[in-house]
Amino acid sequence: MEEKKTINFGAGPAKLPRAVLLQAQRELLMYNDTGISVLEMSHRSSDFSKILSKTKNLLVELLKIPDNYKVMFLQGGGSGQFSAVPLNLIGLKEAKCADYVVTGTWSEKAAKEAEKYGKVNIVHPKLDRYTKIPEPSSWTLNPAASYVYYCCNETVHGVEYNFIPETNGVVLVCDMSSNFLSRPVDVSKFGLIYAGAQKNVGCAGVTAVIVREDLLGHALKECPVVLDYGVQAKMDSLYNTPPCYSIYIMGLVLEWIKNNGGSQEMEALNHKKSTLIYDLINASDGFYACPVDEACRSRMNVPFRVGKADGDEALEKKFLDGAAQRGMISLKGHRSVGGIRASLYNAVTVEDAQGLAAYMREFQQEHQ
Ligand SMILES: *Cc1c(COP(=O)(O)O)cnc(C)c1O
Repeated sequence: MEEKKTINFGAGPAKLPRAVLLQAQRELLMYNDTGISVLEMSHRSSDFSKILSKTKNLLVELLKIPDNYKVMFLQGGGSGQFSAVPLNLIGLKEAKCADYVVTGTWSEKAAKEAEKYGKVNIVHPKLDRYTKIPEPSSWTLNPAASYVYYCCNETVHGVEYNFIPETNGVVLVCDMSSNFLSRPVDVSKFGLIYAGAQKNVGCAGVTAVIVREDLLGHALKECPVVLDYGVQAKMDSLYNTPPCYSIYIMGLVLEWIKNNGGSQEMEALNHKKSTLIYDLINASDGFYACPVDEACRSRMNVPFRVGKADGDEALEKKFLDGAAQRGMISLKGHRSVGGIRASLYNAVTVEDAQGLAAYMREFQQEHQ
């Protein structure tokens, strides 16, 4: 079959490394010498048990996860964790309250879900647009909060933290779904980190949860058992059937990251790719415009408007059509913000980003 040349800038599910897809293809019908596919394998078999521990060990190695943390692979996506986090952690302290920093769609949804289970304090005045991170010195953190929650890369709005918030000893929880393993991170600063795989480390179906051991066993009594960190950690993610194939794919992606220089090299490449696009936007005399503050522009998701600051919709449609003709797909911005969004996750290559930059330059020359 002749291959169609397509560059996928999708926000998630997103591009996977070619080498990973080829290996999955080679192994699809028969995994090692088992005679069966991973898709058909018992989750209690020794072969799957090796896949699970390999994936877990790679995560521990790549993120230098300290010994006093547990790694789990759960279902329900990032959205499942919006509920799991308060169900497991809001009862850590008597007051049953939690602090949330709301810098975009995803942290907003998480805060809303947490309100079902306890008292939620948004630590800053509500933002009218999600284009910046409120100055941390202005946050009103509650020392009696069970945890402080934030999302370190807002996938829809393209807002990314380049610092870890100081919480003065209160447990810190982070949604890293869309920049997981895109750079090194000091796990010891967090009580809990979670990340859905389909943005940066695999396919949909599995969410990696990294939790400090002393936070286990505090779930509210109404917490569904499949979301109970204490139960899932004790059962090594095997309380019930885990998303076996998605865990296998994550293992292949982690191996690929390791073979390509780990999180440090991912960071260098992600910096290079995103700088290419942001520099071009900045130098475009306003033809392209990114609404996000320069200090917190995401290296993973680059949102921008075409033609004028709030977007010329007809021109943006033309931009997307021209991109599609060149095989560049999934560049349409999220329906809630419009415009264009280029997602530049780990699997997107520097050449892919250069291709987009070349097209953007050409499009500006033609339509300015
Ligand atoms: C995609 C995403 C989610 C939601 O993930 P689902 O798997 O669709 O539930 C949550 N948080 C962030 C930052 C995301 O990018």
